Parts: sequence; C-alpha cells; structure tokens
Amino acid sequence: MKAFTYERASSPEAAARAAANNPEAKFIAGGTNLLDLMKLEIEKPTHLIDVNGLELDKIEKTTEGGLRIGALVRNTDLAADQVVRRDYGLLSRALLAGASGQLRNKATTAGNLLQRTRCPYFYDTAQPCNKRQPGSGCSAIGGFSRQHAVVGVSDGCIATHPSDMAIAMRALDAIVETVKRDGTHRSIPIADFHRLPGDTPQIETVLEQGEFITAVVLPPPVGGKHIYRKVRDRASYAFALVSVGAVIQSDGTGRVAVGGVAHKPWRVDAADAELGKGARAAAGILLANARPTEQNKFKVDLVERTLGAVIAEARG
Ligand SMILES: Cc1cc2nc3c(=O)[nH]c(=O)nc-3n(C[C@H](O)[C@H](O)[C@H](O)COP(=O)(O)OP(=O)(O)OC[C@H]3O[C@@H](n4cnc5c(N)ncnc54)[C@H](O)[C@@H]3O)c2cc1C
Ligand code: SF4
Repeated sequence: MKAFTYERASSPEAAARAAANNPEAKFIAGGTNLLDLMKLEIEKPTHLIDVNGLELDKIEKTTEGGLRIGALVRNTDLAADQVVRRDYGLLSRALLAGASGQLRNKATTAGNLLQRTRCPYFYDTAQPCNKRQPGSGCSAIGGFSRQHAVVGVSDGCIATHPSDMAIAMRALDAIVETVKRDGTHRSIPIADFHRLPGDTPQIETVLEQGEFITAVVLPPPVGGKHIYRKVRDRASYAFALVSVGAVIQSDGTGRVAVGGVAHKPWRVDAADAELGKGARAAAGILLANARPTEQNKFKVDLVERTLGAVIAEARG
C-alpha cells in the first residue's frame, strides 16, 4: 500500500472542500472497498478524509412522507430498520442479499453506491484495463466475460456495477443528496447518478471533484409486493450474475430494475409499462439493445426467467 496522510472531517462541507483541494484525496467511510483497492494499489490516494465522525447515520422521515437515509447509515442498520422493512421491503431484501453480516456492519449507504466493479481484470494490475488505466485496452472484451455486462456496453468497457442496494434504490426512484466544494447542495435522481462506460469508463458517476454524498432520499412508499431475486454462482457471499428488484401491484403493474447486466442499475420506463403482460414482454424491452459476448449471452435468457419467477412470486 502507498503511504498517505489522514484527516478526520469536521463537517460535510469541510470534507468536500478538503477533497476538492486535493485531486488525489479520497473519502473513507466503511473502507470495505477502498482499503482492498488500496492494498492492491489500484486506488492510490495520497490523502484520506475519514468521514466516520460526521453525524450522517440517521434514518428520518421527510416532510413529503418519504425517508432520508444518512450517507453513513450502515447497511445492517438500514436493512433492519422497521420503516424500511415495512414500507421499502425491496431495499431491505437487496441489502441482505449482499456481502456478509460483518461487511454489512461496516459498509455505508454512500460507500455502497460508489463501490467499484468486480471485473477480474480491473483487479489484476498485470492486465490492460481502460477503467484502471485509461487507454490501455479492455481485457474482458475477447477475454473471460461470463460475469460482464450485456446492455449499455461500449467498445472500451463491459464491466457491471456490483451493488445490490443500488438496484433497489433505482426501482424506488431514490435521490442522492450531495454537498459541493463551494457549500452548495444538489439532489441527483439515482437514474442520472451512475454513468455508462462510453469512452471514459474510469468516470463512473456524475459527482464532481470533491462532491460529498450526505444522504439518499426515498420518495413516499408505493405499496405493492417488494421482491429482490439474486442469481449467483454460490448461495451466499457472491455478486449477482443477474438480479431483479421489483415492486408489483395487485393489478400486475409495477416497476423493475435489473442488476448484473450493465455499468449502472438498469431500468427502462417502457419495460415497467409492459410488466402486466409478463416477463417476456418486459424483459424484451429491458434488454432490447443487448450486446452480449459469447460467454455471457445466457444472461439475456436469465433475466427473463428471473423476472418470470419474480412475477410468479408476486402473484402468489
Ligand atoms: C468480500 C466482499 C463481498 C461483497 N459482496 C457484495 C455483494 O454481494 N453485494 C454488494 O452490493 N456489495 C458487496 N460487497 C461490497 C460492499 O457492499 C461495499 O464494499 C460497501 O458497500 C462499500 O461501502 P463502504 O462504506 O465500506 O465504502 P468505502 O470502501 O469506504 O468507500 C467506497 C468509495 O466510496 C467513496 N465514499 C464513501 N463515502 C462517501 C461519501 N459520503 N461521499 C462521497 N464518496 C464517498 C470512497 O471515497 C470510496 O471511493 C462486498 C464486499 C466485499 C469485500
Ligand atoms: S470490462 Fe472495464 S473494468 Fe473490465 S477490463 Fe474492460 S475496461 Fe477494465
């Protein structure tokens, strides 16, 4: 691991300022992703801004009837919260499908959204990877690509976003609240928060240099059945090959987001509108422009079958 300096942030604004003044600085929250990447010298911050002392660990009702989740709320606490379990069951289920109990005890809401891809070439510093080293090439294209993305891909990167929680957040239309270096705040719909790889796969979100996440806000509850189904190679402690997060109403309408298939949580409004017609219709729209590799084309069928199982479960 490279040497780094360290400070504890005194406020979100101070954290944003400190990071904006030093492009090689990084925030550290639970550290469950960042420290692994630092040990492998994939992330090489020269300065760490520890945000764990900030009072951003509350889950509060909003005046609109939704929920504001502090950036530092641990995944375990969020999954166990009574209001989340009752009104946003999809979020609780998605969280519990991820990582392990120990990791969830440390992992934070903001850190989870910003965790980096699990593409094996990204972790192997002996291999070209445009995300790790822009312009070096993509080893997954033409290489081992079973886990990789099938939609929204580019010629530069076919990595997936690994978060389970983010799939639920996408289906629930969450909003990411931030503070910038100049102290101004902004609210970013989760649909716009993560980027597709394009020519710059190293840029994964719309956050600006130093911009700090303070909370994630959920709109008022939408009712319906909340289901998260994750298909993976092992029954636990594995990332999704494909996951489906859905809220399905009694008349069959609803909303659906898919994980394991793209560089960001994948949702297509027109697919929501087709949910009542069944999995084939909705999955056909979700993956209409799929560009799978020979090794991961099974994901196209797997999305349809997983969505079919979710719809069947919702219908009882
Ligand atoms: C073995 C293993 C298995 C796992 N399995 C799963 C799984 O199945 N599903 C799943 O979804 N996840 C899984 N994870 C990932 C885990 O959920 C993430 O590592 C975790 O959520 C990251 O949160 P953190 O607080 O530890 O982030 P950190 O590691 O502290 O930070 C991650 C990134 O977020 C940035 N950051 C943190 N807080 C803020 C903020 N407030 N504003 C701006 N930037 C910020 C940091 O600078 C860093 O770049 C697994 C992890 C491990 C190690
Ligand atoms: S898929 Fe993306 S992360 Fe993986 S090797 Fe290619 S450029 Fe790197």
